[in-house]
Amino acid sequence: MMTPPAGGSARKFNFNYSVINHEVMSHYAFVSVRNDWDTAVFSGRPEPLGEIHFTVTSLAVDRSNGSWTQGFRSVFNLGLQGLTVGLAVTISHAVSIADGITDPVTWLAVVVGTVVADLISSMLVAFAIGVAERQLSRRRLLSAIVPAASLAVVGTALGLVGMLVISVSSWGGALLVVVLVVALYGHRAYGRFLAQHERLGQVYAFSQLVEAAKPEPAAFGELLEFIRETLNAGRITLLLWPAEDSNEGAAGPTTLRVDADGNADWSAGAIRRDPLRDAVRTDGRGRLVTNRHGTLDGPDWAALADRKANEVMVVPLRTSDRLLGIVEVCDRQAKLNAFSAEELRLLDNLASHLAAAVENQRLVERLRMQAFQDQLTELPNRIQFTADIAQVLEGADSDAAYGVAVFGVDSVVAVNDTLGHDAGDQLMIAVADRLRRLPDSAVSVARVGGNVFALLLRGPDIPAVQALVRAWHERLYPPCQVGDLTIELALSGGLAIWPAHASDAAVLLQRANVALQAARNTGESIVTFAAAMEHGSLRRLQLVTDLRSALAAGQLAVHYQPKVSLTGDHIDGVEALLRWEHPAYGNVPPDDFVPLAEQTGLIGPVTTFVLDSALRQSRSWLDRGERIGVAVNLSVRSLLDPELVGQVSGALARSGVPAELLTLEITEGTVMAEPGRSIPVLHHLHELGVRLAIDDFGTGYSSLSYLRRLPVDTVKIDKGFVIGMGSDAGDLAIVRAIVELCHSLRFQVVAEGVEDELSRDLLRGMGCDTAQGYLISRPLPADRLDAWLAAWLAAHAPDGRVRRLHVSGG
Ligand code: C2E
Ligand code: CA
Ligand code: CA
Repeated sequence: MMTPPAGGSARKFNFNYSVINHEVMSHYAFVSVRNDWDTAVFSGRPEPLGEIHFTVTSLAVDRSNGSWTQGFRSVFNLGLQGLTVGLAVTISHAVSIADGITDPVTWLAVVVGTVVADLISSMLVAFAIGVAERQLSRRRLLSAIVPAASLAVVGTALGLVGMLVISVSSWGGALLVVVLVVALYGHRAYGRFLAQHERLGQVYAFSQLVEAAKPEPAAFGELLEFIRETLNAGRITLLLWPAEDSNEGAAGPTTLRVDADGNADWSAGAIRRDPLRDAVRTDGRGRLVTNRHGTLDGPDWAALADRKANEVMVVPLRTSDRLLGIVEVCDRQAKLNAFSAEELRLLDNLASHLAAAVENQRLVERLRMQAFQDQLTELPNRIQFTADIAQVLEGADSDAAYGVAVFGVDSVVAVNDTLGHDAGDQLMIAVADRLRRLPDSAVSVARVGGNVFALLLRGPDIPAVQALVRAWHERLYPPCQVGDLTIELALSGGLAIWPAHASDAAVLLQRANVALQAARNTGESIVTFAAAMEHGSLRRLQLVTDLRSALAAGQLAVHYQPKVSLTGDHIDGVEALLRWEHPAYGNVPPDDFVPLAEQTGLIGPVTTFVLDSALRQSRSWLDRGERIGVAVNLSVRSLLDPELVGQVSGALARSGVPAELLTLEITEGTVMAEPGRSIPVLHHLHELGVRLAIDDFGTGYSSLSYLRRLPVDTVKIDKGFVIGMGSDAGDLAIVRAIVELCHSLRFQVVAEGVEDELSRDLLRGMGCDTAQGYLISRPLPADRLDAWLAAWLAAHAPDGRVRRLHVSGG
């Protein structure tokens, strides 16, 4: 019945379809003239021989490859048209065509014929599409059949009306033409409206998809596939210019192609330029190039030939201020009709949403980069380095040793202070450059802290890794050039080794840092981690946590150490010293936890606690008729606390202890840390009547004449000199000089750390006023101090009677 196209490139086919009654056919042929698959224009002319000859006058066949399928499809369509017409006629005839067009029975017959014929043809079409696209569903069949049936009824009714009109008067045809033109116009407008509505829906759906897409390159495959399917295109390509801020060489993949089967494929490399892309790039307008009529030549033809395509749409991928790339869509897939200006607009619209997704992904990429890279040196940062170690360790060779070495560039602190942070930055960049020139043994390099770099090294065993680190340390050591200056590098190194010291990446790095800290503390150049080191830092961490609750839990207590006069035989007051009985660590010395309290801001409540306890103790002695002054130590944070003066006067008022019984001890360093702020505070305290003492004198750098200008009453010679004075002539000379100078400046002098009688006698010989130290008493809890006081007084009573205490301050 049909003649297949020879070679698929023919533009005309003939086929015949036999019908039973050509007369009926000549009347009713029009009812079936519709096509819902391909746009093929054909004309049909019933022949009086009982045959109809259909001549295809225009049929698009894929001429790029002369596809037989395309031709077959068209022939299938035409055959179908014929079959539909034939069926309609046959069925109508079978039902009844008795009394001509005016008879309702005829109408019914015609309607039945056309509906049945259309249903069959629609099902065949749906079936054919289903077979071609390998998905046959009941939904697809229904969606083809329902509109086909209704259209058939409406079309047939209109046709019958037309015939009736014409059968009454042939002028009726003119009226019909008017009605048809109006209906056609309305139909087209409605069609346009529907199409627009559908496009809006597609753009909206795409924008939703963009919004839901993960900001990573993998998501673009899905987005492109959506566009390809929406446009029913053979393939789609996304071409991205490299991001402006991506450094050269690091440019990632630039081209993403999605083919007709939805397979996405990224590729890298420079984007090939051609006049079409250049034009879009220049003016930012989309282009549609088609060669459906085979008449194209020149650059447009070349552009298509280049893409092995019959038609292509190229649109820019742009944001409000930038062109990020272009999107190209080639060839309609299943339809014979070509891309239109409408589709170009749709593609343009979809591309603008895609551009937003690309930009979003680049932003995320940039942020991700910043999150994993050190901005100054462009080396991986700690997070990335830890991930790198983890990855290497995952595939680690269990016979080998992997070392994480950290190098602290200690000189950068001095460089920052003296030459400014720019110079410090340059120094870090110079060190980073040295580290980048790695030997193979270093797997990875990173900057893991302000002035700390890290290396991941591999060696056959621990000594080999240690040797590597030493070699690296030497390599890093030569002075660095920063601008015109040559800077000596002070480098400390810490090393932790897998699997000996840790099996986990983060712990390994942390332990290398603990080792680095140990190197800094001991002054050694490189230290390998040892378990004992960590206990110290773990304990510190635990102490910080526990200190908060220690106060409330009553674990803190104040002990008192008496000071006695060297010139007369009386008690010169007591020093309040803080004690912490930790449930796990036992007695924690104040030197261990007071600095932690300072760092964590807990020193305020701690000082308040000591102040209140000491004054309460002094009060209870007063109540017993004993005037014993108390000395309380102040740290820097306490001295600079704006509440301090109010706090002290409040505590004095609450306890009712006279101000002159309270001494506040501060070190030189405490005053000198911020003299501008601390000196006015000292004056305010002095105005309250409180006595002030300089603690640990001799360890700082301040001159006594400077201290004279402060409202200070007492100087306490640091115990370091006092303990050594019996055996060290230098210490003895220092103590003697301090005592003499203090007296000439009218300070009272206290020597702390008096441990033996020789020291006490030497001090007494120099005329030092007061002694404090283990020789007299260790710091004691209040009740034991009471016992000590009683014993001391008994021992020092000249006539065996208990003397009253003589008090000369705190
Ligand atoms: P400091 O103010 O110089 O206190 C004197 C330290 O020397 C005390 O140590 C004391 O027990 C010790 N000492 C006394 N006599 C002798 C001796 O004959 N030989 C030796 N070798 N040592 C002696 P402690 O109690 O361990 O206190 C250490 C430091 O902790 C204090 O040094 C002080 O700076 C600080 N501290 C103690 N209590 C407080 C406090 O309540 N607040 C503040 N801010 N700091 C405190
Ligand atoms: Ca003290
Ligand atoms: Ca001291």
